[in-house]
Amino acid sequence: MADRQFDADVVVVGGGPAGSATAIACASRGLRVVLCEREPGARDRPGETLHPGVEPLLAQLGLAARLPEVVGARHDGLWIEWGGPRRFEAFGSDAAGPWQGLQVWRADFDALLLDRARSLGVVVREHCAVAGVLEHGSMPGGVMTSTGPITAQIVVDATGASRWLGRTMGIASPARSPRLVARYGYVEGSCPARDEAPLLVGNASGWTWSARVRPRTYQWTSIRFGERAVGEVPDELRGLAALGPERGADVTWRMAERTAGAGWFMVGDSSATLDPTSSHGVLKALLSGMTAAHLIAASIAGKAPADEIAAAYHEWVGGWFAADAARLRDFYRSIGADCFA
Ligand SMILES: Cc1cc2nc3c(=O)[nH]c(=O)nc-3n(C[C@H](O)[C@H](O)[C@H](O)COP(=O)(O)OP(=O)(O)OC[C@H]3O[C@@H](n4cnc5c(N)ncnc54)[C@H](O)[C@@H]3O)c2cc1C
Repeated sequence: MADRQFDADVVVVGGGPAGSATAIACASRGLRVVLCEREPGARDRPGETLHPGVEPLLAQLGLAARLPEVVGARHDGLWIEWGGPRRFEAFGSDAAGPWQGLQVWRADFDALLLDRARSLGVVVREHCAVAGVLEHGSMPGGVMTSTGPITAQIVVDATGASRWLGRTMGIASPARSPRLVARYGYVEGSCPARDEAPLLVGNASGWTWSARVRPRTYQWTSIRFGERAVGEVPDELRGLAALGPERGADVTWRMAERTAGAGWFMVGDSSATLDPTSSHGVLKALLSGMTAAHLIAASIAGKAPADEIAAAYHEWVGGWFAADAARLRDFYRSIGADCFA
């Protein structure tokens, strides 16, 4: 039931794909939503190669018609050289044709999602960093932001690797893999071999990924197992002009010990994260936001006790995390990565 003593039914912290998907799906159910994003606008960030499963989710979020505005390229599968000769792995197909992955530029993609949220009445506050939780009895009752308090029945943490709510509430998110640090960067120019589909090359010491993310721009990511992170521009991209500095990101697998409770949810990377070879980062961000929104609406409507709803969400997050982690561990073992033995 909408409760007018609060500024909003739901306050979402973070304007990446998980936060926007949560906001859109909540607003579509008639809930009053405020979304706070600490940056002044959508930023360039890695996560440009989207799994084919993303497209039906975007259609459900009402973005099918506008998707072509941000899709730089499509690919039917990936080139993989993983402890053996290079081969092409297609995503699959159905009666409608081959399933295709999408290449997007994240600043444009994230901005499109935020636009959709605004069009449904979500109040999007940019340049609005959230620093604290307001209490309502024993539950969160909103957030304290850099521009003042916002009260809400439900607080959603969509802050990605910052894991703001988990850190604030003292909820651990222990490592579920050896420490993995990715180095990544962008280059500009022409690499015709990479225009058709991304390439993943792995061996017992690490892996390297390269993909065209928009015309004349390629992204590379590399991980060296058990060593100090050293960037390794793939051979085929050497000689192209670097676009900005090389960067690093901790991509150790993690899942929060609790991902929801009475009055709060964690979605996207703040709830659980795997390294980029899972290729599911943005997919899981959207899906977890949409699943949380469904449960938030049920909780506000009083359809089930909040702790039962939270337990169901946590079990769902844990289920996909365990399945993806098992698949990825086997993938790493197949190239003899000692740290996954
Ligand atoms: C090198 C690398 C390569 C990757 N490649 C891929 C890929 O090819 N495909 C793929 O699907 N995934 C990829 N990923 C993973 C993908 O980027 C993430 O899974 C995805 O961005 C998670 O979305 P999210 O919305 O949970 O978090 P994010 O996209 O990180 O968004 C979090 C948002 O919260 C905001 N925020 C943080 N703290 C606060 C605060 N206190 N107050 C307000 N706002 C706050 C941030 O500014 C940010 O906008 C890659 C990751 C890395 C590191």
